[in-house]
Amino acid sequence: MPAASASPNTVKPLLISGEWITTADSTFESINPASGSANFLISAASESLVDQAVESAWQAVRQPAWRDMLPHKRASILRAIADGMERHADTLARLQMIENGKVWAECQAQVASAAATFRYYASVCETLNAEVTPSRGNYLSMTQYEPYGVVVAITPWNSPMTMEAQKVAPALAAGNAVILKPSEVTSSPALELGRIALEAGLPPGILNVVTGLGATVGKRLVEHPGVRMVSFTGGTASGRAIALAAAEKLMPVALELGGKSPHIVFADADLPKAVEGVIGGIFEGSGQSCVAGSRLYVQRSIAPQFIDMLVKRASQLKVDLPDAAGAQMGPIASFAHREKIERMVGTALADGGEVLLGGQRPTVDALQSGAFYLPTILGSLTRNAHVVREEIFGPVLCALPFDDEDDLIDQANDSAYGLASGIWTADYQRAWRVARRLEAGSVWINTYKQLSIATPFGGFKQSGIGREKGLSGLRLYQQTKGIYWGM
Ligand code: NAD
Repeated sequence: MPAASASPNTVKPLLISGEWITTADSTFESINPASGSANFLISAASESLVDQAVESAWQAVRQPAWRDMLPHKRASILRAIADGMERHADTLARLQMIENGKVWAECQAQVASAAATFRYYASVCETLNAEVTPSRGNYLSMTQYEPYGVVVAITPWNSPMTMEAQKVAPALAAGNAVILKPSEVTSSPALELGRIALEAGLPPGILNVVTGLGATVGKRLVEHPGVRMVSFTGGTASGRAIALAAAEKLMPVALELGGKSPHIVFADADLPKAVEGVIGGIFEGSGQSCVAGSRLYVQRSIAPQFIDMLVKRASQLKVDLPDAAGAQMGPIASFAHREKIERMVGTALADGGEVLLGGQRPTVDALQSGAFYLPTILGSLTRNAHVVREEIFGPVLCALPFDDEDDLIDQANDSAYGLASGIWTADYQRAWRVARRLEAGSVWINTYKQLSIATPFGGFKQSGIGREKGLSGLRLYQQTKGIYWGM
């Protein structure tokens, strides 16, 4: 693991048009949630820098060097970015680890996944066809797909690298210039990605990394008249604010938002496997995952036995410093977020719930200065409890019983969200029936959190609009044009 390369007083510059710009008078802190200490300072873009980023991105995207670049050439740059990410894998992984506290092994896996996303979209870019459509006369009619021009990608802090790759790779493959606005909690991996992209030969101005707060920099980018499309991943409240701003401009948006995903265990399931699936589904990444299986529905006949198994297994999870050998859960990504989790668990008790495991900070000395929180399982809750209805985005599982399939579907779909879901059963016909009835963008059967860049991903209901990943993940960043050619 590489050592820290910057001190707490170092100001990291942002990237506009291939130039690194330091805003010494306007910065914010990057904090290591495992220790509470400052990593470094990050430049915060002013309004005029946001305007400059949009203007120079338009200049870059109109240059023949990018506008007329053939898809196979764009693909070779995307592959060079993937190579660069792999060469600098330890740096990228470490930057993510010191900013959001994910354990080292997960950070490394996410760099590999992000690089693979660039390779996937390189292949999509050079193999995707335009279409000749059936003509109704003496003409040739064609469908062409064109970039929007300048698009903005706004990302959250929980898995910054994979989210950023998921937006930047297809948006570049589609021929756009991108302004990436990473979360203020995790700005550094995005800045490193910007450096790697330049090194890989991406023309200056085609990928800009504009750091700052969501309420100022993010908001101005979304409202900017020069921005033609926004791809956002984050909380549902921010997504709604962005959708409202986009409505004013009549601008398309893709929104990947929050979740409160039901994880379902039938009495006939392979229970040891289901225990592992449920544990990984909620506690991996300290529960800070949009697809976290945070509502457990277990069939009433096995509920006491299964919850005992879960509590026993979860109590063995190793909560530790993210770079400690064998660490399975690092800290919460920020101290403010840990407080929010604590408040939410407090509401569970007020709503009549009981803590079956955790519900507190660890008492180990070595973890006292970090934002740690123990794996928590809550029981005795009703469907109306605040913690059952709202996203906690932390290591907190709400366990509820169900009687039969109809009762299960009624409870599982009784949510404003619809991002993901999981089913454990030995009955394949039931698995199919339930999978079809669940209101969720992803359903996992006898597995959980299995993701492929080739499979479209997104939410039902308030979990989002649009689908990232897959072939359609590139089309998300293009607009369709019909061309008629008289013969
Ligand atoms: P957040 O909504 O607070 O912030 C996300 C990003 O949006 C940040 O870069 C932030 O600076 C920016 N932002 C905030 N308000 C903005 C505004 N008004 N205009 C423009 N930009 C704005 O979310 P977070 O706390 O960083 O991330 C956690 C949330 O993200 C959770 O709700 C989680 O479920 C969700 N998430 C969803 C997915 C998915 O694919 N559906 C994936 C990961 C995280």
